[in-house]
Amino acid sequence: MTTGHDGRQPVVAVVGGGMAGLAAAWQLSQDLGAPADGTARVLVLEAGARTGGKVRSTEFAGRQVDLAADAFLARRPEATGLCAELGLTDALVAPGTSGAALWARGRLRMMPDGVNLGVPTRWWPLARSGILGHAGAARAALDLVRPHRADPAAAGDRAVGGVVTARLGHEVTERLVDPLIGGIHAGGVDDLSAEATFPPLLSADRQAGSLMRRLRLPATPPPDPSGAPSPVFWSLDGTAARLPAELTAALVARGVAVHTGVAVEALVRRADDATGGPAWELTLAGDTASVPGASGPSDAARTLAVDGVILAVPAGQASGLLADHAPRAAAVLGDIRHSSVSVVTLAVPSRAIRGELVGTGFLVPRTSPVGGRTALITGCTYLTRKWPGLARPGDELIRLSVGRFGDERPDSIDDDELTAAAFEELARILGIDGRPSESLVTRWHGAFPQYTPGHLARSDRVEQAVAELPGVAVAGSAYRGVGIPAVVGSGRAAARVVLASLDGAPPTAPV
Ligand SMILES: Cc1cc2nc3c(=O)[nH]c(=O)nc-3n(C[C@H](O)[C@H](O)[C@H](O)COP(=O)(O)OP(=O)(O)OC[C@H]3O[C@@H](n4cnc5c(N)ncnc54)[C@H](O)[C@@H]3O)c2cc1C
Repeated sequence: MTTGHDGRQPVVAVVGGGMAGLAAAWQLSQDLGAPADGTARVLVLEAGARTGGKVRSTEFAGRQVDLAADAFLARRPEATGLCAELGLTDALVAPGTSGAALWARGRLRMMPDGVNLGVPTRWWPLARSGILGHAGAARAALDLVRPHRADPAAAGDRAVGGVVTARLGHEVTERLVDPLIGGIHAGGVDDLSAEATFPPLLSADRQAGSLMRRLRLPATPPPDPSGAPSPVFWSLDGTAARLPAELTAALVARGVAVHTGVAVEALVRRADDATGGPAWELTLAGDTASVPGASGPSDAARTLAVDGVILAVPAGQASGLLADHAPRAAAVLGDIRHSSVSVVTLAVPSRAIRGELVGTGFLVPRTSPVGGRTALITGCTYLTRKWPGLARPGDELIRLSVGRFGDERPDSIDDDELTAAAFEELARILGIDGRPSESLVTRWHGAFPQYTPGHLARSDRVEQAVAELPGVAVAGSAYRGVGIPAVVGSGRAAARVVLASLDGAPPTAPV
């Protein structure tokens, strides 16, 4: 078992109680074991009123709905593995329907078969979908007939948009790839790193022959014993926000001290590190009275001495906390730009909707105007179709995603105006008479770090610089993926780095 320099059990603080921080605490508590004397050795310090960060739900129209993440990718093992460890495998639920549409050339058109993160891999379904004009479809077809030489020497990262446009034409980039990959990151593919957001694209581009053929996925996912196809996404019965709620409860049951309403304002290197004492001191603010081990003149200004620290906070906050100790890493983190998004959740009377709700919803490319102007909404989810547990007779719950990098319009209007403007676009697309019976706006300021080309190399440098600090690691969506599985993986990897460092292993960055 890991022990401190003087043989005591170390104390590790996790700053930030989003999915990355909770997963880090889970791994720490697993590896450190139960506290021998009942005193918490792992603490989670979360500035907000609840854990979970961007995985959050609320009651809306008599149902519990997710306000941000509502599902996690099934093919990555980290989130499903965590669910299994929490005994939640039986609570996994798959979407009740599949397929999504795109608003293109004045109407909703189903996404063609065979797209891989928006990149078409089969020409005929693409051409038939009507998403591209004739010239755009013909340009994409060149990929199948024009020779493309392998370039094994090609190295380095490039923007997704640049790669796809060069190989398949700008219409494919604008109408398919930007809504999908850009939508996941609330950014534009002309500025998003292929290496960080869709690595197979770069390797496909470096090989000879057609990009579309290279990116083809295996024909169909293997069916489960019941014959149903394996889902692409999972959520939990109830909401995706059950995951952080159940994880928090399991952490508390393991003896982890989870404190909400406690912000970490500074990280200070302690002098008694050299004598085997705790290496770090955290300056706390907020509801600090019950934080075990905290000391100070008043409840509002307390400090906490710890052996290890995991910074599971967004890039800007990590930059501030690291500025005195790893200035280059802090500068890299401080330079990451973020996009803000809003989620407009609506209850719409079923009888008011003239159009048919097919699949899970639709995406709106930025080049496909609605009502003659660039749309505010980037995507729409038919919640009551995607998650049949939410369905009630008489209404549809619909969620609109608004805002992307560089679009300042949502920030300049209030919630009522935003709801009205977003609903007007929805009404034009779906054909809706009347008004929503309920609505809710959730604003996620600075929610998505923009992974510009070279992002992973910069993440390597940050992690290596932080690994030089004894017992410190970083985790979260700033580094190697914004999805729940990726941040769960980053939290667990950071925990292992900190424990190895406390065990006296040479510095290593997470893998
Ligand atoms: C609208 C939206 C939809 C999304 N949809 C999906 C989806 O369907 N599927 C999916 O996989 N992902 C989705 N994501 C992405 C995913 O939810 C996030 O990337 C992920 O949850 C981030 O987790 P995190 O722990 O890195 O950061 P966060 O959730 O941001 O957690 C960081 C925590 O740190 C706390 N904190 C910050 N500073 C301090 C401090 N100084 N002291 C103490 N605490 C501090 C914050 O309060 C916060 O709780 C979505 C995100 C958004 C915004």
